[in-house]
Amino acid sequence: RPSLPRPAATRVIVVANQKGGVGKTTSTVNVAAALAQLGQRVLVIDLDPQGNASTALSVEHHRGVPSTYDALVDGVPLVDVITPCPEVENLHVVPATIDLAGAEIELVSVVARENRLHRAIHGHPLVGTAEEAGEERFDFVLIDCPPSLGLLTLNALVAGAEMMIPIQAEYYALEGLGQLIETVDMVKKHLNPRLAVSTILVTMYDARTRLAAGVAEEVREHFGDLVVKTTIPRSVRVSEAPSYGQTVMTYDPGSPGALCYLEAAREIATKGAPQ
Ligand code: ADP
Ligand code: MG
Repeated sequence: RPSLPRPAATRVIVVANQKGGVGKTTSTVNVAAALAQLGQRVLVIDLDPQGNASTALSVEHHRGVPSTYDALVDGVPLVDVITPCPEVENLHVVPATIDLAGAEIELVSVVARENRLHRAIHGHPLVGTAEEAGEERFDFVLIDCPPSLGLLTLNALVAGAEMMIPIQAEYYALEGLGQLIETVDMVKKHLNPRLAVSTILVTMYDARTRLAAGVAEEVREHFGDLVVKTTIPRSVRVSEAPSYGQTVMTYDPGSPGALCYLEAAREIATKGAPQ
């Protein structure tokens, strides 16, 4: 496959939406795998105690496996909790174990509790500009957030410079987005001035329904150029891939879901980081 030019510095993208089931995890792992297939060096950080991204990327995440929890709560260096994805070249993962469910509360009493993930990521020798991090550097770090706006998601919003919001093409799609944007504005103002919503991805689009088209149009009216031109279709192949420990990118590379994720990833990479 033709490779894309690499970004000048690691792009840290937070995949968040406090609504559950909108396609955060599916989009994280498939965009990550697609970027890797396009020649980018990619790290996925699973920040959801459910560990669904870890499952989809076929990395172990039972209790005791070095994980996001260790980096966040115990300050273990990220290099020591990263594991390669066995299914996709150029793709690495920090798995989430169920311990992460306790982190939300354990972090409350920790110093600089909202900065922990930022410190972990930016302390990694392969994160940064070409000058800082060399040829082996990560081009993308994608963070898969849990469905809440608690301390875990807050850590992600402080750690990243970009945010991708998956929106399910369903009734009520825009509900709750106001609260999400308010949270982003609060983080921008007080904790991370570089944070920007860079990408809106419409997922589970059902071309046969007028409702889906209406939702997509409404999202475009609202967010304009931030919306990725390629929408992700609703497809059984996409939803069954994780049960085989795969992303749809390897499970069924020629399927519409895989092709759309590839196109969306290309768009995200080509558009570049927001200035
Ligand atoms: P979230 O991480 O936001 O909770 P998921 O990515 O886990 O959402 O998706 C929720 C459910 O929808 C999962 O069962 C997933 O397999 C399914 N799903 C996600 N995207 C698609 C799609 N494009 N087509 C069909 N099913 C999908
Ligand atoms: Mg999820």
